[in-house]
Amino acid sequence: MGPQDQPDYLNAVVRFQTDLAALALLGVLQDIETHHGRVRTGERWGPRTLDLDLLLYGEQIIDTPSLTVPHPGIADRSFVLLPLAELTPDLTIPALGALSDLVSQCQQFDIRRLNSSL
Ligand code: AMP
Repeated sequence: MGPQDQPDYLNAVVRFQTDLAALALLGVLQDIETHHGRVRTGERWGPRTLDLDLLLYGEQIIDTPSLTVPHPGIADRSFVLLPLAELTPDLTIPALGALSDLVSQCQQFDIRRLNSSL
């Protein structure tokens, strides 16, 4: 996705419970990015030390200037859909429908699963 002249990158999806409201959670994710050396250069989709996106927040649909949930790119990104389907194969994504349908419709590109021993 984005500029091709950048190093390979790893993607992962995690699921967790939190007491934080969605906007507060976004703030924590951005603090973690900063803590890991993320510098916002303004280049979209360029190389980054860490990029944490809030893909879903329960079944909520959120549309504010600083936060859109489900994440706007979720349906087009096989590197998001495939690991998400490993975690929750039967998921229905608010406003988008069955995750399994999105997976079957998305272009797969060259996405390889890393062995957990790596
Ligand atoms: P990024 O370049 O991926 O770090 O995202 C840039 C901006 O997208 C952030 O400053 C957020 O305010 C905004 N944003 C909107 N929706 C989301 C979301 N679901 N997850 C992460 N960032 C989001």
